[in-house]
Amino acid sequence: MSAVTHPVIIAGAGPVGMVAAADLVRQNIPVLVLEKNEALSTESRASTFHPPTLDMLDDLGFAKDLIAQGLKAPTVQYSSSADGVLGTFDFGAISDLVRHPFRLQAEQFKLTRIILEGLKDHPLFSIVFGCEVKSITQTDDAVTLTATVGGEDKTYQCAWLIGADGANSIVRRSQDMGFEGFTWPERFLVMTTPVDFTALRPGVSSVSYVADPERWYFLLRILGAWRVMMPVPAEMSDQQALSEAYVTSSIRRIVPADIEAPILHTTLYRVHQRVAANFQKGRSFLAGDAAHINNPLGGMGMNGGIHDALNLTAKLGPVINGKADASILADYDLQRRTVTMQAIQGDTIRNKKNLEAKDEADRVRFRDDIRAAAADPEKGRALLRRIAMLDSLDRAAALHVDSNTSQ
Ligand SMILES: Cc1cc2nc3c(=O)[nH]c(=O)nc-3n(C[C@H](O)[C@H](O)[C@H](O)COP(=O)(O)OP(=O)(O)OC[C@H]3O[C@@H](n4cnc5c(N)ncnc54)[C@H](O)[C@@H]3O)c2cc1C
Repeated sequence: MSAVTHPVIIAGAGPVGMVAAADLVRQNIPVLVLEKNEALSTESRASTFHPPTLDMLDDLGFAKDLIAQGLKAPTVQYSSSADGVLGTFDFGAISDLVRHPFRLQAEQFKLTRIILEGLKDHPLFSIVFGCEVKSITQTDDAVTLTATVGGEDKTYQCAWLIGADGANSIVRRSQDMGFEGFTWPERFLVMTTPVDFTALRPGVSSVSYVADPERWYFLLRILGAWRVMMPVPAEMSDQQALSEAYVTSSIRRIVPADIEAPILHTTLYRVHQRVAANFQKGRSFLAGDAAHINNPLGGMGMNGGIHDALNLTAKLGPVINGKADASILADYDLQRRTVTMQAIQGDTIRNKKNLEAKDEADRVRFRDDIRAAAADPEKGRALLRRIAMLDSLDRAAALHVDSNTSQ
């Protein structure tokens, strides 16, 4: 057997890879992170942290700094163009279950920066930027990675590999781990605007979903601005969708002509629903977007990825430290892949279908369900537990490879 030089290598320094690194270092395990780019990403992308995710980040010592850089959203609101506000749900109703009963609106790059700042001088942590992993092979004892660093080929070896290298994961592709699912025909347009929706719509929540059979939209408040998300028809070109005329007509659907509506930033992106066939292959694991991607309605992509990372490191850490048998690692795939398929994929697809529903019966059902949940504290609590991802965490914790009863 060739020498194993690193206990754990993590491919990718996104939020998922960095959280995994922090939790392993906390368990006194040396970690090497290999990141393709020359620095941490500056892309905004995810900007919602759910209550249990904040609790987890608090356990790692990062929540306080993140909260200081974000905006607390204590409520979530559902409306429809036809019926107005259907229900507003306050996370205070689940304050017995979480220490942070609110969603935090903060861009994901803030988290990765906070984590890097906290780890960079730690003797057990190393990161190589500008290092693109190119291929993976493994034996019963070790994983070997080939990578390019500054134009040079380099080989790394580790006992365990975590592929947190995003949707195009080379860890997944080079081991034929499959990524079944589909791509939605429409793309999503996100416009960032300083328009004050709290003045325009008194009582609006910082997270507001508006169902509309013609063109649904989603309002998300961040510090100093709002993000407005709308679908773009499949037949429209990217160029047309990003044109000033189309972006202006889109924002004007929800902001009256007499109010200025400058657009600070636009993003257009394709939306997929895909899950890897396995989250583990021998000594390598997938976590985050490498393992699953979904539409952003519900803010479950990054949050689910962070839940993957900490589920995995809670098992891998004790195995490496000799406190648990490697057989417990099989629970990772069972727990996280099951809830990804059932809860995360199911919820995000349902969220989209509810907002875009054209059929009258579907619209009435959505309207009545939300109104019923708003009127009944127990139903409201059940909705909050689901959208805060608490149900998926509980469901995962109840699954074990050797116990058929809980499956
Ligand atoms: C517009 C938008 C809005 C979103 N909003 C939300 C939201 O509100 N809430 C939510 O939970 N999710 C949201 N998401 C999803 C969220 O951004 C992702 O789920 C999240 O970034 C996943 O984190 P990750 O660490 O798994 O992957 P990434 O953030 O993609 O990080 C992967 C890292 O791996 C590196 N890498 C890739 N290939 C290699 C390689 N071969 N070698 C070495 N390094 C490599 C990349 O450079 C990158 O740094 C949104 C996504 C988009 C696009």
